[in-house]
Amino acid sequence: MLDSLRPREYVTSIYHIHLERLWQEGIRGIITDLDNTLVEWNSPIATEKLVAWLQEVQKMGFHICILSNNDALRVMSFARPLNIPALHKARKPRKRSFYTALSLLETQPEETAMIGDQLFTDILGGNRMGLYTILVEPVHPHEFIGTRFVRRIERRILEGQRPSEGEAWYDSYAPLGVAKEGEEFHS
Ligand SMILES: [Mg+2]
Repeated sequence: MLDSLRPREYVTSIYHIHLERLWQEGIRGIITDLDNTLVEWNSPIATEKLVAWLQEVQKMGFHICILSNNDALRVMSFARPLNIPALHKARKPRKRSFYTALSLLETQPEETAMIGDQLFTDILGGNRMGLYTILVEPVHPHEFIGTRFVRRIERRILEGQRPSEGEAWYDSYAPLGVAKEGEEFHS
């Protein structure tokens, strides 16, 4: 159980993901969570920095889509201006929406990464599908109360897995490595 909650990488933010290395390792598709992964919870618009990151990702050749448990209005109004495919009410960690996402991306599980800020939806779901899972720190702590409760449990599980305060962590079996604190590969 604990293994399926363990991300392959744990980074401070999406901007700390080493995209070149992902590409070199054969990753071609990226499924990403929305709330607190790309922007703060329910923030309606993408930041300039995020728009630039998404463009960079696509320019490198990755296929990307958003997979969110939030509702259609929230997800579509965010994703449409960005011109990125998005699935709402995904019910992560259930597998069904992951299969849909993979068919949108036209990638196999072993060449697909899942990025998200929650262990029990994004990471658990991604691991169950055999995806390369990347946990990010939540963009903003302001979120609804059910999520706050889950965070406490997540912190317990992650405790002891970080080498030191604030430093990016990754599991020893993860081949790709992570950025060090303060170092951003795509800003
Ligand atoms: Mg989230």
